[in-house]
Amino acid sequence: MKHNFNAGPSILPQQAIDKTVEALKNFNNTGLSIAEISHRSPGWDEAMDECRSLWKDLLLIPDEYEVLLLHGGASQQFLMVPYNLLQNKAAYLDTGVWAKKAIEAAKFLGEIQIVASGKESNYSIIPKYEIPTGVDYFHYTSNNTIFGTEILADHDSPVNVVADMSSDILSRPVDISKYAIIYGGAQKNAGTAGVAFVIVRKDILGKVSRPIPAFFDYRSHIKDKSMYNTPPVIPIFMMKETLQWLKNLGGVTKIQQLNQAKAELLYGEIDKNPVFKGTAAKEHRSLMNVCFVLDEKYAGKEQDFMNLSKEYGIVGIKGHRSVGGFRASLYNALPIESVKALVDCMQEFEKKIG
Ligand SMILES: *Cc1c(COP(=O)(O)O)cnc(C)c1O
Repeated sequence: MKHNFNAGPSILPQQAIDKTVEALKNFNNTGLSIAEISHRSPGWDEAMDECRSLWKDLLLIPDEYEVLLLHGGASQQFLMVPYNLLQNKAAYLDTGVWAKKAIEAAKFLGEIQIVASGKESNYSIIPKYEIPTGVDYFHYTSNNTIFGTEILADHDSPVNVVADMSSDILSRPVDISKYAIIYGGAQKNAGTAGVAFVIVRKDILGKVSRPIPAFFDYRSHIKDKSMYNTPPVIPIFMMKETLQWLKNLGGVTKIQQLNQAKAELLYGEIDKNPVFKGTAAKEHRSLMNVCFVLDEKYAGKEQDFMNLSKEYGIVGIKGHRSVGGFRASLYNALPIESVKALVDCMQEFEKKIG
């Protein structure tokens, strides 16, 4: 058995994989693969509707919002958000690599005020920040996939709030009504790469003076129910099955408990095992991506730990190149047994070298 700690694309529920394989062979009893039918075929509309309904059920999304399923990943949303919302100035919180990329993209379309940056501490903390008034919106990244920090609070804000929730969406309940837009790529908690989700409150659109090319205008995608152009049917199907799995399991409240238990187990070991050290500030630790290194005393032994982890069937724990060390991603589909295996491995490593 493999223990898949990949940061994204990452572990998926086996059921979602099996159902997608089935659909790849024979979609909806048509005798045809989902990969070779028109998205106007009978059955596809229903699949798309079901996927949207699951989003609405799981996150209790109010009627004023639309759920869009679009190409281009979270990265395309870095541009679509300012295209649709930025008239003069927007405020961004800089908490890591993805936040930075969102900022760089938005700068093409208007003035960007950086409310705070964690850069000086190599993004190991969430810097103190305040949401300013007089800006078109405030943008932040709820979970910093690379640095292992997370903002769990929903904000009471004087301006529209936009959040990139690529790597912690569906890991816990969120008060959708506090947001103007929540977006992200599917490939962490919501399926596989190739589709992005955008939860958008409809009344915020149509307020900027710039002309927006139709493909970049959320309203085109709302009007055509995310089929303005050919939708990525395989990733959307997989998303639907991933959401169905989550619903059957008990939804976001249930998964939050499971995620907390997984994170407590692993951070607990990091804190008591003298060989390892967490890199993110304790009060900002992510429940999704756990970043850790070897204590300085054991510098240079990283490969030994990687080798031992292979014997346990552990994959995907090499840290991002900008942080080094290790990163274990504990996304929804990862069972606690995998975290136990990693903890056992860390304890064996301590016995060997500690
Ligand atoms: C993975 C990730 C992205 C990038 O998503 P793409 O779909 O590859 O564009 C953006 N933001 C965060 C927080 C991520 O974790």
